[in-house]
Amino acid sequence: MPMPFPLVAVTATSETVRDIPRVRVNRAYTDALIRAGLTPLVVPPLAAEQAEALLARVDGLVLTGGDDVDARLYGQSPHPKAEPPDPARDRSEIALVHAARRAARPTLAICRGVQVLNVALGGTLVQDIASQRPDALAHARSDARSQRVHDVSLVPGTRLARLCGAERIAVNSLHHQSLDRIAGGLRLAARADDGIVEAVEWGDDAWWMIGVQWHPEELDRSGEPWDGALFAAFAAVVSSATATASRPAPGA
Ligand code: MN
Repeated sequence: MPMPFPLVAVTATSETVRDIPRVRVNRAYTDALIRAGLTPLVVPPLAAEQAEALLARVDGLVLTGGDDVDARLYGQSPHPKAEPPDPARDRSEIALVHAARRAARPTLAICRGVQVLNVALGGTLVQDIASQRPDALAHARSDARSQRVHDVSLVPGTRLARLCGAERIAVNSLHHQSLDRIAGGLRLAARADDGIVEAVEWGDDAWWMIGVQWHPEELDRSGEPWDGALFAAFAAVVSSATATASRPAPGA
């Protein structure tokens, strides 16, 4: 029997709010995960070894949105439009990505999450879509968090296309960066009409990993089924993994 309410690690943003440095995550993520039957465990930046140890004790991983990944991690100088880096978060999330891949822990990567995952696995990013891809659509639509502002075409046959049951869906768009060179091991799962990469997934069934550039946590209760289906599919694979995982017993 699967364990009830499987535990998923949810990465967080460090931010100074009212003069106090804090770790925070938008409620939209934790609410959507709870609605899907999962228990979100919000994790601060951790040293690499501690991040790996944490990953061994959770059933899944959610890499959340946030500020830009340090461009130096993919061999570029930061673009003037790039946000100040958070090296502790970058290090922690990169360690989580590697540990999740090695252990095949189901992983859902959202916005910055799919960007840091791509960088961790050797890919690169478009640092500022508006200046580096001037013909692209407006993707930085933070004025419309929960509105579907552009379409994406899903690649037929991908896990994402199957679970959405569609080849074209509409999404929100709160990003000024995107994937550029897709890391080895990943396959393209969705593009916007301007060519901007909007989703990738792990290239075979050995690891359930879907990464989306949009914010399904802002849309899972909208009139369309796609984003709720994404959380439901993640929850289903996390739950089935808890039933079959061979993990050391406490104290073993
Ligand atoms: Mn977009």
